[in-house]
Amino acid sequence: MSTRTSPSGHPGEFGPGAAPARGAFPVAITNHGASAVLEICWTDGGRSLLAHGLLRASCRCAACVALRRAHKPVAESAATIRLHHAEPVGEQGLNLVFSDGHGRGIFPWAYLRELGAEQS
Ligand SMILES: [Zn+2]
Repeated sequence: MSTRTSPSGHPGEFGPGAAPARGAFPVAITNHGASAVLEICWTDGGRSLLAHGLLRASCRCAACVALRRAHKPVAESAATIRLHHAEPVGEQGLNLVFSDGHGRGIFPWAYLRELGAEQS
């Protein structure tokens, strides 16, 4: 019994146009529940620390985009929101499920990278 798990789910076959400009693909994704931070290590050695509340507030699913367009808050309280689950979706990005039951947003890798860059 030998099972190999690749956290990124793709072994490095980056087709033309598939990779974001700066080659932002994750090699490791760690959800730190206690500190409410999602940590992503990238293929180029970079590291992003993303607060759960920030991720929830940055959701770009159709419902959240509509709320934002109407100048309404996308989440009730970003401070208490927790990320329950992070699931890679092919080579697109990460599907994030939050404690308020919201779990429809796909966060593209490049977007996650951007969000992390704003933090540091
Ligand atoms: Zn959303």
